[in-house]
Amino acid sequence: MNNSPLYGGIEGGGTKFVCAIGDAEGKSLAETRFPTTNPEETLSRALDFFRDQTRVFGPLAGLGVACFGPLDPNPASPTYGRILATPKSGWAGTDVVGALQSALPVPIAFDTDVNGAALGEWRWGAAQNLSTFLYFTVGTGIGGGAMVEGRLLHGLIHPEMGHIPLPHSFTQDPFPGSCPFHGDCFEGLASGPAMEKRWGRPAEHLPADHPAWELEAHYIARALQGFICSFSPQRIILGGGVAQQPVLLPLVRAKVLTYLNNYISSETILSYMDTYIVSPGLGARAGVCGAFALAQQAAAEAAR
Ligand code: ADP
Ligand code: ZN
Repeated sequence: MNNSPLYGGIEGGGTKFVCAIGDAEGKSLAETRFPTTNPEETLSRALDFFRDQTRVFGPLAGLGVACFGPLDPNPASPTYGRILATPKSGWAGTDVVGALQSALPVPIAFDTDVNGAALGEWRWGAAQNLSTFLYFTVGTGIGGGAMVEGRLLHGLIHPEMGHIPLPHSFTQDPFPGSCPFHGDCFEGLASGPAMEKRWGRPAEHLPADHPAWELEAHYIARALQGFICSFSPQRIILGGGVAQQPVLLPLVRAKVLTYLNNYISSETILSYMDTYIVSPGLGARAGVCGAFALAQQAAAEAAR
């Protein structure tokens, strides 16, 4: 048994779930991962993990769930805690918080995977001491989390920054886009599956000098141009599998500078682009640490 507070974290992804128990510093004490199958099986495996681990480590002070969406993160809403209109088969309408809360009577925070990762980066990673910044994942989907003036942004539901429209020249890029809702939105043009469909092989098999990366950087930079103009972020963090290709970030930085065309007169952008658009400070841990950070927030709010 342990006397310092313990937190549960769930990184709920479209392909895999990671469940973990962590301490106040975001250090993982126990962790498991399993594929995301149907909601009943997946959530009961998560509950089994927490039931077993709390027998070893003791009770949790809070549970953070950073989940694929769209989802309802508003505790005042009648559909709070549910997954909304996801194309992921069987999950639309799933009451994730309800299922977890009935078996785990601890404060629960429920937010998007990217808002969770943003909070984790703010607490322990590349966004420490900032008040307004954006976290993006470019992976199976594209999503953006936003902290604005020190608070995670939810607004009406939560931002869907992967689904903005982008300029798309069909002569330069005839690929119609892969988003089931919008075709050639940001995610439809630039997610990992979009790259795979356009080029005929997965992004990790496209060599660094393949034209795919120039085009990918172009779409990401166009999107970031829009987000820089709308949010005025102090930093942008680019995570996700596709962003692991080392040539991508330098290309994105150069194109963002070109597209902004000296319009935003901030030294941070004009002289320090290398520290303005960055990789997650927590690396692949951003998701789990984000879930711990959400759990800590839930525990702190419940104690108020
Ligand atoms: P998820 O979005 O499901 O959580 P990832 O962030 O790993 O998972 O994204 C998966 C996507 O990223 C896949 O489309 C895959 O082709 C691509 N990907 C994974 N690793 C790399 C890599 N090293 N370089 C480029 N693309 C990658
Ligand atoms: Zn879309």
